[in-house]
Amino acid sequence: MPDHSRLAGGAEFDAVRALLARWGSVAKGIGDDAAVLDVPRGDSLVASVDATIEGRHFREGWLAPEEIGYRSATAALSDLAAMAARPLAMLVALTLPERWRPRLDALADGLGEAAREHGLPIVGGNISNADELSITITVLGSAREVLRRNTLSPGDALWLTGALGGPGAAIRAWSNGSAPHEAHRARFSRPSARIHEARWLAAAGATAAIDVSDGLAADLGQLAAASGVIVDVELERVPLVVGVSAEQAIASGEEYELVVGARGDFEATAFTERFGIPLTRIGAVRAGVVDVVLTRAGSRVANPPGYDHLSR
Ligand SMILES: [Mg+2]
Repeated sequence: MPDHSRLAGGAEFDAVRALLARWGSVAKGIGDDAAVLDVPRGDSLVASVDATIEGRHFREGWLAPEEIGYRSATAALSDLAAMAARPLAMLVALTLPERWRPRLDALADGLGEAAREHGLPIVGGNISNADELSITITVLGSAREVLRRNTLSPGDALWLTGALGGPGAAIRAWSNGSAPHEAHRARFSRPSARIHEARWLAAAGATAAIDVSDGLAADLGQLAAASGVIVDVELERVPLVVGVSAEQAIASGEEYELVVGARGDFEATAFTERFGIPLTRIGAVRAGVVDVVLTRAGSRVANPPGYDHLSR
C-alpha cells in the first residue's frame, strides 16, 4: 500500500494530521479519494459498519477517551468475528464537537490500539463538526467460508464463548450513581473482538454464528428467526461473571462474545487453553415455530426484553 498523500491546510486536515500522528504506522495510504485494498484471491469481501454515539452507547464520564475509541473499534470488529472473517482494513468516520477536540489524540490512541492488536490498517475516514461525538467504524474483512445466522439446523448444539453479565452490571452501577466493580467495568471498557476464536470455531465445524451485542436472549432471537428454528437454552449452563445473575447476564448487551451452532462437540478444553476463555455448550436447536426457550431446572422462564437501539 502507498504512503499517505500530502494533505492541504485547514482545521479539518489539522485534525486528520493529528490522527495520523497518533496512529503512526497503523494508518496506511491515507489522503486519496478512496482506499485501495487487495483481497486474497478466492476470498469473499466481508464488510460491516457500526456507530458509537455519545449519550446512546456511553455517557461522558463513564469512560476515558482512549476506552471510547478502543471499544468503538472492537464493536465493529466483533461483527467480522461473527462472520469468521479475517480483518483487512478499517475506516473511521468521526463527528467531533469542539469540546471533544482536546481529547482527539486520546480517542485516536484507543482506535489505533484496537487496530494494531488485530494487525488492521486504518485506510481512510472522515471528520465533520457536530453537536455530539460519534464514531462510525467501517471494517472490511475477507473469508473463504463465512459463518452466517441462517444456517442453524435442528440437532445443532449451541455454544457460547466467554462469560456474560459484565457490561450490563457496569451500566447498572453507573446508572445508579455508583462505581462499577472493576471486572465489570473492564468488560465494558475493554471488550475483545473474538476474531481468532471465530476462525478456530469455523475451522472446527461451526454451522452458524452471531455476536452478543444486544444481549444473549435477544441475539438468540435473531439467530432463531434467521434460521427458522427453536433454540433451547438452559440458564444454569450460561457462564456468568462474578456477582451477576443468569437473568441479568442474558440481558447484558455489548458483550462481543460469540454464539455458534455445531453438529458435534468442540474440544472446549483446547479452546480454553488457546484463548484463555471458556467455550460452553449452553443449549440446542430443534425444529418448530421460531422461539427462544429459556429454562431453569427444566421450567421455562420469561425472556428478557432485548436492547432495541431505536426504542429509547
Ligand atoms: Mg453483530
